[in-house]
Amino acid sequence: MRIAVLSDIHGNKQALEAVLADAATTGPDAVWCLGDLVGYGADPDACVELVRAHVGLCLVGNHDLAVRGDLPLAEFSRGAALAAEWTRRRISEEHLAYLAGLEPLDIGEAVGLFHASPRDPVWEYVLSSLQADLCLSTQRHRVCLVGHSHVALAFSRADGEPTTGQTRHGGTELEISRGEWLINPGSVGQPRDGDPRAAWLLLDTDRWTASWRRVDYDIGAAAAAIRAAKLPDSLAERLRHGQ
Ligand code: ZN
Repeated sequence: MRIAVLSDIHGNKQALEAVLADAATTGPDAVWCLGDLVGYGADPDACVELVRAHVGLCLVGNHDLAVRGDLPLAEFSRGAALAAEWTRRRISEEHLAYLAGLEPLDIGEAVGLFHASPRDPVWEYVLSSLQADLCLSTQRHRVCLVGHSHVALAFSRADGEPTTGQTRHGGTELEISRGEWLINPGSVGQPRDGDPRAAWLLLDTDRWTASWRRVDYDIGAAAAAIRAAKLPDSLAERLRHGQ
């Protein structure tokens, strides 16, 4: 099965449209999303609508949970809390109901799916080999997918060897048929790995390959929408830098 894996869309309609168009050119059997459909960006309703139309399996992320009212805003940064409040006021009842039906993990597939990590599906940012090692020892699947950090990366561990890993650039394809893996596709709507282009991952569970993809999108339009909505300017500015 060939799966287009998306994560951390964050209300960025322009980025999501570009990723869905790029993913469609590869003819995937399924499209999955690891959560955080909303928060930060100015188009939550359009993003939920697109996810409902194109994504077969979708997790909930911490920002979605905040908008649902299931996580206290005090646990978020000021900009994130403001954006969550704004989204809560703005989003339609129907789309809120869709978010309310989602879970932060799915362990019923050939690979394990978690918004944040196998140890803590909602909050843990897995960015170091040490953390990845602890996650690999926790997870029941040989291969797990996580989002949340907005950094495209992969960590792996071969039998009896230490866990290693790093960020993965667009165009990278790895063979993952052996060893244990923890893989992050990067963020569709707010990349934080220095590459401002929208990120997604093509996972092939027959050949066991993972391909990291990046796609250009209209960053200026996404930033203008954030400013027009009177959301914090920093949320618009960071899109240009991929931070
Ligand atoms: Zn996120």
